[in-house]
Amino acid sequence: MVGSSLALALQNSGLRIALVEAQDLLEHHQPGFDDRGIALSYGSQRIFETMQLWSQLADKATAIHGIHISDRGHFGVTRLRAKAEKVPALGQVLTAKQLGIQLNQALHRHASLTILTPLQVRAIRQTDTSVDVQLSDGQHFTTKLLVGADGQFSTIRDLLGLTSWQREYQQTAITANVVAERAHQNWAYERFTENGPLALLPMSEGRCSLVWTVQSGEEKALLSSNEQQFAEQLQKAFGYRLGHFEKIGQRNSYPLGLMQTHQPVQSRVVLIGNAAHSLHPIAGQGFNLGLRDAAVLAELIASHPEDIGHPHVLDAYREWQQQDQDNVVNATDFLVKTFSNNSFLVGHGRSLGLALLNGLPKLKNHLAKTSMGLSGKQSRLSRGLPV
Ligand SMILES: Cc1cc2nc3c(=O)[nH]c(=O)nc-3n(C[C@H](O)[C@H](O)[C@H](O)COP(=O)(O)OP(=O)(O)OC[C@H]3O[C@@H](n4cnc5c(N)ncnc54)[C@H](O)[C@@H]3O)c2cc1C
Repeated sequence: MVGSSLALALQNSGLRIALVEAQDLLEHHQPGFDDRGIALSYGSQRIFETMQLWSQLADKATAIHGIHISDRGHFGVTRLRAKAEKVPALGQVLTAKQLGIQLNQALHRHASLTILTPLQVRAIRQTDTSVDVQLSDGQHFTTKLLVGADGQFSTIRDLLGLTSWQREYQQTAITANVVAERAHQNWAYERFTENGPLALLPMSEGRCSLVWTVQSGEEKALLSSNEQQFAEQLQKAFGYRLGHFEKIGQRNSYPLGLMQTHQPVQSRVVLIGNAAHSLHPIAGQGFNLGLRDAAVLAELIASHPEDIGHPHVLDAYREWQQQDQDNVVNATDFLVKTFSNNSFLVGHGRSLGLALLNGLPKLKNHLAKTSMGLSGKQSRLSRGLPV
């Protein structure tokens, strides 16, 4: 999704672009294109608006008007409201599949794009002036810049020997689309429980998209239980704020961890999206951050058409985007550690923190701005200016 977004952001740049994808792009059952809800921040919505993609996404998206953050068994609650932040919505929820299909359709309308699929990158040879890329069918091409947007298990990162730091949380996310007795009224719920965080995002047709984090191993029983047993467990963890859970859709699971590469840039190659940083979904920031990577890189590339892979372009990218990446990675790690901790002191500390936060509008505004992707230096695309 991040690589496609970059190719689309550069649609009017006059550059010739090749997109290499391991899966067949015409088939919509790619592993990344499932029914899990993706919360797009207000900043991401603005990027897609500038790329003229939002009109195709808008009728499928469900606006988030408020976010309710609570801690099971403790008193603290915080509420973030779009009105208070003076924005029409704090974010928008779409399924990964809906987003993927729209991006694919737009790729096929892209006049200066060559789609090489289903093919994989097999070997890379870098020189001072270009990169030679060999594909799985034996063909080669030479480019001024290679962008590795090939996800968490990036082949390009491995081929270049770029190291990364990782944190294993021993947690697994269970996702499902669910229907509750009471309407979500465009509110998203983030609930911290002693076993891990649980998020319910508002979706179309009165559904909510559930992302429930449990200790790895515990997902087996929840995945194999019947619908009623699962609904009972979910009810215990979430409570009755939305009444009874009436329908539980197909359940999937994802092992969770945190990874950030030490070096996202190396001689005419740059890693973006999950290839550079793969996050725990606790704050729903993974794709949003990857889209900002793409927006910043597109702007810098388009302003240096004479040599898009020149070291000063990639250094400028790193200087601009590193802070954003570090902030999101560190904030996500802090949230996972703080809100997955059962200790009495940490539990009371965080509920006090949530209660205090609710009474501190300035701090709340900062939190809302960060989660909307509106803090820090904004790219042209996020300011409504095409590249
Ligand atoms: C449960 C869950 C909930 C989430 N919720 C949110 C949310 O609410 N908001 C949010 O912003 N983010 C969310 N995320 C994170 C988001 O899904 C990811 O950050 C995003 O999908 C990353 O996109 P990407 O394009 O960088 O990587 P990927 O989606 O992994 O795409 C990588 C692509 O590269 C291709 N590829 C791999 N190797 C090769 C190769 N050698 N050659 C050619 N092609 C190759 C793959 O086929 C794939 O298409 C969530 C994640 C999870 C697990």
